[in-house]
This record gives sequence, structure tokens and C-alpha cells, in this order.
Amino acid sequence: MNTEMEIKKAANILANAKRTVASCGAGISAESGIATFRDPGGVWEKLNPAEVGTADGLLSTLTNNPHKLMPFFIELLETFQNAEPNPAHLALGELERMGILQTVITQNIDNLHIEAGNTDVIEVHGNGFRIRCISCGGSERLQRKQIIKDTLKKVRDIKEFTLETIVSLLPPCRNCLAPTRPDVVMFGEMVKDVPQAFDAARKSDVLLAIGTSGTVYPAAHLPFHAKESGAKVIVVNPNENAFSAVSDIYIPMKAGAAMEEIIQAIRRLMH
Ligand code: NAD
Repeated sequence: MNTEMEIKKAANILANAKRTVASCGAGISAESGIATFRDPGGVWEKLNPAEVGTADGLLSTLTNNPHKLMPFFIELLETFQNAEPNPAHLALGELERMGILQTVITQNIDNLHIEAGNTDVIEVHGNGFRIRCISCGGSERLQRKQIIKDTLKKVRDIKEFTLETIVSLLPPCRNCLAPTRPDVVMFGEMVKDVPQAFDAARKSDVLLAIGTSGTVYPAAHLPFHAKESGAKVIVVNPNENAFSAVSDIYIPMKAGAAMEEIIQAIRRLMH
């Protein structure tokens, strides 16, 4: 396989597409400094998903052993504070402005697609910078860098980590003043906006799968669904994944360089 040829083919397909959907996973944000969960060195090698990945497990850990989580929590905040949209996110923003890309479906919770300029972003696992009231369910979007700065300041002032001090780190609900939680999907919780995501995949004539291992359902089914509906599937991932069976084009590169090269090739086709 010749990667340069695959990039040219991908650019050609995208330049002629009527409706493109991008389906993105943790890999697209890896070059923004946010590690994936399952790759070597990822979070699941350090933490037990049963203790932090489910709502009950997290509540139990925060109640009985909050000290165990705080170093991880602070490291996570610092990572997200330093993250910026990388060339792959920016390329998707550019593809939307070119009129080629309509929708981004993402498993990421980092807000970087929105910051890169995409306007129709389906966040199936939620958004870490939106809070949801645990009482009335109302939600509010927060400014990513500001809330991290405020939270890190509060964390450093905490003398003793308890469930109460940790819950007080997030602003209360604007409507009913009850405590809030990050509006992210934990294991065992309902994935968000699934009908919208599948509808977008079904209506697409090109699906671009970037940086996703294809092991987290239902998002992992999107390329198969798009293919069954007649779409071409372009996969960008340095590692082969579950989508080989349906991919028309496979680009074995990191997302940033691959997407920059695709954008340049589309520009050459359009001029
Ligand atoms: P995953 O961790 O299962 O797989 C990541 C995939 O990205 C792998 O296939 C890997 O080969 C690929 N990858 C690694 N570096 C890459 C790069 N530079 N360019 C392109 N691809 C690269 O991720 P997943 O399948 O997306 O699922 C993990 C879950 O964890 C998701 O549900 C997501 O909600 C959550 N998560 C989110 C973030 C984030 O918001 N940035 C980060 C980690 C995990």
C-alpha cells in the first residue's frame, strides 16, 4: 500500500462528497497531549475502571479513599488545561468551512472539536466542560480554561479531601442550586444522542473514522452502518483496527499529519 496514493484518493473522494461525517475517538486528541485510555501507558493501566469509570465506583472511591484519586485528578486537569486543538481538529474545522464536512461525531469529552470551529458536533460521551445538575438535570457549558484554572486553585487550597470538598469544586446548578457533576458518560450510563449519530452516519456518503480503536460501542458500529448505507469509509489510525473490514481507504498515520496532507491535496484539486 502506498500511503501517498491513499491520501490522494481520500482527497479526491472528499472533494466530491456531498455529505461527510467524521467519527472520532481518543486518538485524534493524542497529539494535543491527551493520552488515549487503551493504548500502552493509557489510563486503564494505572486505574481500575471499576473504581473510577462507573458512577457507583467513583462515588465509593471518593467517599472511602479520596486521596487515591486526587493526584490523578490534578494531573488530568493540568493535561486538559494545556491542551489545544491540534492540526487534525483544525483540519476538520477547515473541511466544514470548505462545505465538505457536515457533522463530527466524537467519543471525546475534551471540547476540542468545538474550539477548532466545528458547529455540528455530536458528543456521544458528553463533554467534560459542561455540568449537569444531579437534581433537576439542567446543564450549563463552562469555559474550559477558566473552569480548570478556578478548579486547580480551589484544589490547592483544600486542606482535607472529602466527598463534600470534592463536590464543592464544581459550581452549583444555576436553577436550583443543587450540586452538579461533569456531563460525561460513565460506564453503565446511557450514551448520548445515538439516534442523531446513526442518522448522520446513514445519510453520509463519506465517513472519516479518525483515531478510534473501534472497541467502544455503539460508536464503533458507525463505520459499518455508514458502509451498509452506501458510504465510502476512510480510516486514519497509525494502528490497524476493527474497521479494516469496511474501509475503502486506510491511512496508517497519526491524525495531525494525515489530515494536514489531506487538506493540502484537496486544495490542490480545487485550484
Ligand atoms: P481508544 O483509547 O480505545 O483508542 C484510541 C485509538 O487512537 C487507537 O486505535 C490508537 O491506535 C489511535 N491513536 C493513537 N494515537 C493516535 C494518533 N496520534 N492519531 C490517530 N490515531 C491515534 O479510544 P477510543 O476508541 O476513542 O475510546 C476510548 C474512550 O475513552 C472514548 O469513549 C472516550 O470517551 C474516552 N477518552 C476520551 C479522551 C478525550 O476526550 N480526549 C481521551 C481518552 C479517552
